[in-house]
Amino acid sequence: MIDLIYIEDSVREHERAKEIMARFPKASVVPCNHYKEIFNPRGQNFRLQKKKPALILARQTGKLIHPIPPSYGVGGTTNYYFSHLLNCLYDCRYCFLQGMYPSAHYVHFVNYEDFQQSIDQTLKQAKEPVWFFSGYDCDSLALESVTGFARAYLPFFNKRPDAWIELRTKSTNIEVLENTSPFPNAVVAFSFTPEEVSRQTEAKVPPLASRIKAMHKLAELGWKVGWRIDPVIDSKNFKQRYSTLFDNLLKGLSPNMLHSVSLGAFRMPSGFFKRVEKLYPQEHLLAGQLVKTGGMVSYRQDIEQDRLGICKDLLRARIPEEKLFFCESPVV
Ligand code: SF4
Repeated sequence: MIDLIYIEDSVREHERAKEIMARFPKASVVPCNHYKEIFNPRGQNFRLQKKKPALILARQTGKLIHPIPPSYGVGGTTNYYFSHLLNCLYDCRYCFLQGMYPSAHYVHFVNYEDFQQSIDQTLKQAKEPVWFFSGYDCDSLALESVTGFARAYLPFFNKRPDAWIELRTKSTNIEVLENTSPFPNAVVAFSFTPEEVSRQTEAKVPPLASRIKAMHKLAELGWKVGWRIDPVIDSKNFKQRYSTLFDNLLKGLSPNMLHSVSLGAFRMPSGFFKRVEKLYPQEHLLAGQLVKTGGMVSYRQDIEQDRLGICKDLLRARIPEEKLFFCESPVV
């Protein structure tokens, strides 16, 4: 799975880095001074690298947790995200990461202890529960076998009832959750698009039916689960496709078992979008009905409002209102 590992000098003796290196004894190992030497140079071929990304083991320094972008939350008043990993095992055509990063290599920050210290400092200053989102720059569970992220962080959050953790994923890799007792301040949020859209735009993502099964399994085990219908992707038979999706998600799951459902419009900063267009000039999703307004690319406003309205109506007919969070693209 990993043939090439770059390792920052600063983590050569870090226990987590050593464990990961031991798991890939056949990988070539290249030392580096700082991960940005490998990751940041312009002119790298993201699309080519995506076929076989290298793993970069590094230490994150500076600010380790960040305020979430507007409309990312699910009801909390204080919300942060943190990233143990940059980039993703999967390859969704609408993903902003491919426009944001110059490289498709995985950067894994192994210094969990520093992130956890930052989380504790934030909690100390907080007067109310704080949310921490872990799936902003990556998928929270897809590379669990490499990173051991959930294995390390679930016990940490379990001991801190005022800290909510959201794992956001398209993975079916739920073994670590099956082997952990559920606790109240954790939400496993699965991102979904209709099956036909997923097949066309979400390369390497497990089939929809397997992801639904994983979500149901976790709900049965007592984990709080959520749906992230974000981004909403336009396609033919839009209403019927989303209606079928919601029905399938609910088969065998009571709406009361759901923690939250969020709905988000497709949006991407125009600089990122330009790069993605260059990477995939033939891509149908990127052509046509998208427009640039201010610094963002999104669906034409009439289309966006119509498609979000349809999804809202479909969700309202199925899910209690207090569980619904509608995140629309910022007005620019
Ligand atoms: S699963 Fe999420 S992070 Fe991964 S490629 Fe798809 S949109 Fe991007």
